[in-house]
Amino acid sequence: MIIRKPIFNFIGGEWKQPETGNYIDDIDPATGNSLTQIPRSGEQDVENAVQSASRAFSQWSQTPINERADFLEAVADKIESASRDFAMLESLDTGKPVDLALRLDIPRAVSNFRFFAQAVRQTSTAFHEMHGAINYTLRQPVGVAALITPWNLPLYLLSWKVAPALAMGNTVVAKPSEMTPMTADLLAHVFEELGAPKGIFNLIHGYGHEAGQALVAHPLVGLVSFTGGTATGEKVAATAAPKFKKLSLELGGKNPTLVFADRFTADTVQGVARGSFLNQGQICLCGSRILIEQSIHDKFVDDLAREIKSWKIGPPQTEGTRFGSLVSADHLKKIESYVKLAVDDGGKIVTGGVRPKLPAPYDKGSFFEPTIIKGLPSSCRAATEEIFGPVITVHPFRDENEAIRLANEVRYGLSASVWTSDLNRAHRVSRKLEAGTVWVNTWLLRDLRVPFGGMKDSGVGREGGEHSLEFFSELKNVCVRLEEGDLK
Ligand code: NAD
Repeated sequence: MIIRKPIFNFIGGEWKQPETGNYIDDIDPATGNSLTQIPRSGEQDVENAVQSASRAFSQWSQTPINERADFLEAVADKIESASRDFAMLESLDTGKPVDLALRLDIPRAVSNFRFFAQAVRQTSTAFHEMHGAINYTLRQPVGVAALITPWNLPLYLLSWKVAPALAMGNTVVAKPSEMTPMTADLLAHVFEELGAPKGIFNLIHGYGHEAGQALVAHPLVGLVSFTGGTATGEKVAATAAPKFKKLSLELGGKNPTLVFADRFTADTVQGVARGSFLNQGQICLCGSRILIEQSIHDKFVDDLAREIKSWKIGPPQTEGTRFGSLVSADHLKKIESYVKLAVDDGGKIVTGGVRPKLPAPYDKGSFFEPTIIKGLPSSCRAATEEIFGPVITVHPFRDENEAIRLANEVRYGLSASVWTSDLNRAHRVSRKLEAGTVWVNTWLLRDLRVPFGGMKDSGVGREGGEHSLEFFSELKNVCVRLEEGDLK
């Protein structure tokens, strides 16, 4: 596996140094060592990338659907055959266990390319007949799509946008997180190796407030698909909305997990642990506000703590590690500040709350033990704000109504999971939860056809299946009057 030093931008099918001449260090969070440097791109780099995407649009948008789909399938095959390289780079960049990247991130990225290739082959559009006229609906690409992604699931979330954008005939300028650029870079190499038409996929590295902001603001960008924090989403919306760009915002969450006494099983304990701490708790869908029926609260929390203590914390690239490093030293400080806040607010740490002791060079890494905090008011900051790390708060509830009230008591509405053996309750509660996705007796089970997105401060719009194809295109109705004679 090669780590490219430095990494370049990929514009118009060519590798380009930043016009600014400046680079950013890309750090391995598990050791604190530098992995490589990436361009600190500025407005001119963005200009070049957008112009290149715009030039490529006229041809790519006219390329037959089957050819576009064939190309996406070839991308999927290439990623699959290089899974180990992709997984290793993802692990080095993020600190996540390489096993997790191999099992989750990379296969799901492959599935995204395959799924949207299939989906676009099978699209159909509406036809409406009226007296004296017919209407048919065209679904046409938008133009240049700006795709901005976060650091927690770098390749997976990028593929979730690139695949439908290209499938629908748009061209792309992608801006991955400055903290996790390496799999996006490898993806660009895949495009190059496959001889992708020049300019359909452009990759710009750099900071969000510089390269990201310039990309969202660019007049030739017709569509912005953004995944990241809610505060950043506000800025992106403030730039894009007055220009009437198509906009999808997948933002933060503070997801409730509801555990009812009727489903206190080992499977539930394991499911809740996984749903709280997978990827070091850095999945937007992780439950971090755990609501537990009063009668089982104490015993459930003990079992949850026992389960999470059995997860092996260690070097992310070592096989068997289940819990790796957080994404950065800054993020570790943020997590620690929330734990301190929780303790100041009267919380009691059940397990975790400290950095684990690891041998060099991992003693310089951003590791933090999975942490459970009890005894906090459900309205305090640690229980209502997005921490986005391995810290959960647990709260007892008396009955179903109180569980629903506590679940909805936050500004976010991304996802929720409900653990119960009562089928009627499962349906009843699911309808009342304010979340874009509700899982019952499971978590993170994904069917790529279903709508995905958040309510409240967790975002605007839905992606997934038809919704992605719809978002990455414009619908145009053509109304044709029929001549009197044709109607007889
Ligand atoms: P972030 O908002 O800091 O950054 C996300 C991306 O936006 C990065 O590429 C960043 O460089 C860029 N960016 C920053 N400022 C920008 C600006 N002014 N204009 C344009 N782009 C800008 O988020 P993060 O810390 O990378 O990721 C964590 C957040 O992402 C969490 O809040 C998490 O919940 C959220 N997230 C949401 C989903 C979802 O599907 N809803 C999925 C994953 C992560």
